[in-house]
Amino acid sequence: MKRLIDQLRDNHQLSPDGYWTLLTMHHPDDVEYLMLQAREVAQRQFGKSIYLRGLIELTNVCRNDCLYCGIRRGNTHVTRYTLTREQVIESCAQGYRIGFRTFVLQGGEWGEERSAWIAEIITEIRQRWPDCAITLSLGEHPRDTYALWRNAGADRYLLRHETHNERHYSLLHPQGMTIRHRLQCLDWLKELDYQVGTGIMVGSPFQSLKSLVEDIQYLIEFKPHMIGIGPFIPQHDTPFARFPAGSVEMTARLYAILRLALPHALIPSTTAMATLSPTGRLHGILAGANVVMPNLSPVDNREKYALYDNKAALGAESAQGVQLLSDELATIGYKIDWSRGDHPDKN
Ligand code: SAH
Repeated sequence: MKRLIDQLRDNHQLSPDGYWTLLTMHHPDDVEYLMLQAREVAQRQFGKSIYLRGLIELTNVCRNDCLYCGIRRGNTHVTRYTLTREQVIESCAQGYRIGFRTFVLQGGEWGEERSAWIAEIITEIRQRWPDCAITLSLGEHPRDTYALWRNAGADRYLLRHETHNERHYSLLHPQGMTIRHRLQCLDWLKELDYQVGTGIMVGSPFQSLKSLVEDIQYLIEFKPHMIGIGPFIPQHDTPFARFPAGSVEMTARLYAILRLALPHALIPSTTAMATLSPTGRLHGILAGANVVMPNLSPVDNREKYALYDNKAALGAESAQGVQLLSDELATIGYKIDWSRGDHPDKN
């Protein structure tokens, strides 16, 4: 098993069978060896330092109806909100004072009639804080809209592919949404010179090991700058309310495999990891993750952005709680890196 792990570390890829073997191995010594290699590769790239991104949840209004997501259009129990431009700017200002140099605007998916308004906000953030990176995570849009936002000053875009398997994708999404179109969006974003992030949920309903292997292969081929992976967590008002949550261990194992395959990638230890386990965030970092994305939204809105149940948004998961995060990182010998944290190839 160690030979296989060394091979992934040295050649950055394996056969599909090799990934399968790493996903199913169960001897604790083998798993620990994988984690150790991933951690060492991450430390060689980034030191024992963790980049921060301030997450601003722009809106929970969404035209989509993804079956896993708590803010899907069909969920009538959500109190919908959209931050004002002033609220977004105030969140950035607060984040900047704390030390954040990346702002992530995430939200439900809107129609194109509001794309110009988003462009205005991007322009204002870009003018006020020219030293900060602006990341968007606003779903699928036409190429022209992505170009508009890029020209307004956005640097990065997060759009998880969720699953590369066509049939699995159709079981997670409403009719009309296709993996083909999602991958088209990701290609456009790359063409437009965004730093692009993609990824999956681990343990989403109907996921198989075979589809996880496909996801690994796609990620290695696409080479995203960022890889966002978190465990699936059910939300009580969605069609998937009764499905079990994904596992922290399996998610960490994917971080480790992808760290060895893509040593330069920015890999967050996601909020869903911290939600499922008090040690989830550290577990992810010890598997080779190197980014944390604390919540920078106005505190009153956080509970309305409930993608899944019990979503962590306070304490070390909150921008205002960075001291707690810093203390937590110190317990494993890590510290915060306050720089913009671009992908190494962009420097
Ligand atoms: N509307 C944007 C942002 C979505 S929220 C978009 O579609 O890209 C960001 C991510 O949260 C999604 O890509 C999805 O992978 C994750 N997510 C949504 N519901 C979830 C759930 N129930 N459990 C875990 N992660 C979830």
